[in-house]
Amino acid sequence: MSRRFRSLSSITLALLTLPAWSSDDSSSEAIAHTLRDRATRGESVAWDVVSELTTRIGARPAGSAAERAAAEWSAARLRALGFENVRIESFPMTAWVRGVERAEITSPSPQSLTAVALGGSPPTPAGGVEGEVVLFPTLDDLRAAAPGSLAGKIAVITRRMPATQGGSSYGVTVAARSAGPGEAAKRGAIGFALRSMATGGHRFGHAGGTRYEGARGPIPAFALSEPDAEQIERLVALGETVRVRLTSTASYVPDATSQNVVADIRGSERPSEIVLLGAHLDSWDLGTGAIDDAAGVGIITAAAKLIADAPRRPKRTVRVVFYGSEEVSQPGDTLLGNRTYPVVHKSEVASHVIAGESDFGADRIYSLALPPGTWDSPLGKTLARVLAPISVVPTDESPGRGGADVGPLADLGVPIFLLNQDGTKYFDYHHTADDTLDKIDPAALSQNVAAWVSLAWLIADSDVSFRARAQDN
Ligand code: ZN
Ligand code: ZN
Repeated sequence: MSRRFRSLSSITLALLTLPAWSSDDSSSEAIAHTLRDRATRGESVAWDVVSELTTRIGARPAGSAAERAAAEWSAARLRALGFENVRIESFPMTAWVRGVERAEITSPSPQSLTAVALGGSPPTPAGGVEGEVVLFPTLDDLRAAAPGSLAGKIAVITRRMPATQGGSSYGVTVAARSAGPGEAAKRGAIGFALRSMATGGHRFGHAGGTRYEGARGPIPAFALSEPDAEQIERLVALGETVRVRLTSTASYVPDATSQNVVADIRGSERPSEIVLLGAHLDSWDLGTGAIDDAAGVGIITAAAKLIADAPRRPKRTVRVVFYGSEEVSQPGDTLLGNRTYPVVHKSEVASHVIAGESDFGADRIYSLALPPGTWDSPLGKTLARVLAPISVVPTDESPGRGGADVGPLADLGVPIFLLNQDGTKYFDYHHTADDTLDKIDPAALSQNVAAWVSLAWLIADSDVSFRARAQDN
């Protein structure tokens, strides 16, 4: 061992043996600063949780054995980390299972297409469904098509989705995926395809759910890669009649089970009051669900664990909820994870102080939206000070319903926060075979944990009622 190496390792050893809590200041803000800095330095379980979940289990489709295994692994891990009241709460659902699938142009010149069946898409007959494509720039154009005008045809929506920081373009275009197949079927179409809800221009399809009509999706429905959608558009622009064949052996499991995982870091003074941090455990089947949403699971677990390890407990309880079956939840759908939670926890809903979810990848957080009026309060000012060094700014934007998982709680009057992540690259990989661990930047993941732990700690250690505030305004 060289002298230089020896001296370096003794410095490293000295750093490692420094107490995590060198300050005697146990004020709420002082603890928040220390928690934020620990998270920023990567002194949290976030990376380990994301890495293990995506490596040990891999893809976690809603209602699958893999999703169940992920819930059991998570519960064991949460117990080992010292979480309390760890429980798995199951609910029945119909699962969808991808089969062997193929999309191809049959005429004017046979070419294979890169595409994936949308979640919920029914199987095709053995030989597939084959028909002339009719292009629609948007869902509204498809809705304007006359009844019967698509008989025997395959409707294709070609709308492009620009990259945006906050993901607003997804919100605008996603209805084409959920409602498009049903609208096409109503007009007689035998199949449906859309340009993937995607950015980045990669040649892979982006999965995602379609709305069921009864127990299944209406007609076979596929997402084309961006270049393949453009290939079809160019052929049509050349004046060709383009015919496409879609083949899928997808199936349904009507008696499947999914589940939420719930765990607490109990508050010291008012444990019945709950600060809820949510993420979802299921993923699409093509990748390993790293950015969607193992990242969220890792971020909220790490934030709550840092709080558990603080020199004292916060006054209120910090609860993590890993929702099941988020990916297949649709408005008006049957009871899945997001709507099962408020039913199982009915007696506690009124004592939820605030709720938020981490479900937009692992890139950096740039802003925080809180219930109206909060930024002018002492808590708001403290939060702004704690978040400034990690480049998170206050925004007066409304937190709205907060996302698919906490939305049903918002509908019941639970106040919502939004820690907005940079989603500029999120839809390059979202719901694809390329959603894998290597897409996550550990430093950005740590910055997420720093923001979540600061927010969760300060609210859990406060007396502020956002409900009263919401009524004031
Ligand atoms: Zn998600
Ligand atoms: Zn998703």
